[in-house]
Amino acid sequence: MEETIFSQIIRKEIPADIVYQDDLVTAFRDINPKAPTHILIIPNVLIPTVNDVKPEHEQTLGRLFTVAAKLAKEENVAEDGYRLMMNCNAHGRQEVYHIHMHLLGGKPLGPMLAE
Ligand code: AMP
Repeated sequence: MEETIFSQIIRKEIPADIVYQDDLVTAFRDINPKAPTHILIIPNVLIPTVNDVKPEHEQTLGRLFTVAAKLAKEENVAEDGYRLMMNCNAHGRQEVYHIHMHLLGGKPLGPMLAE
């Protein structure tokens, strides 16, 4: 398993706009935002893709959702709504092989998939 730039963000070795961190997960603003709110929520442990998820990751991955709900409230997008998204491998257009939940909101997001 090869580390990505996200491991360096977790360890604060490179700059990132971290909005939340605890023992299990880290959340930071996407460097190339696709919506007014675009935050990535990631496990602190390296899991390259959703295909690598194991039962022992369930608590950590559950935390991604509780943190997403908390951040959506803080960003004032909870009422209007938002999208949580996770890409896997080539067809999912995953770019960084450290799983991450995209939290997107702050405007109507349009159809889920563009052709
Ligand atoms: P994905 O295509 O799901 O793998 O998404 C990877 C996301 O990571 C993209 O939205 C990138 O803009 C974002 N990204 C890549 N490098 C960084 C970085 N150093 N800081 C913040 N976001 C990043």
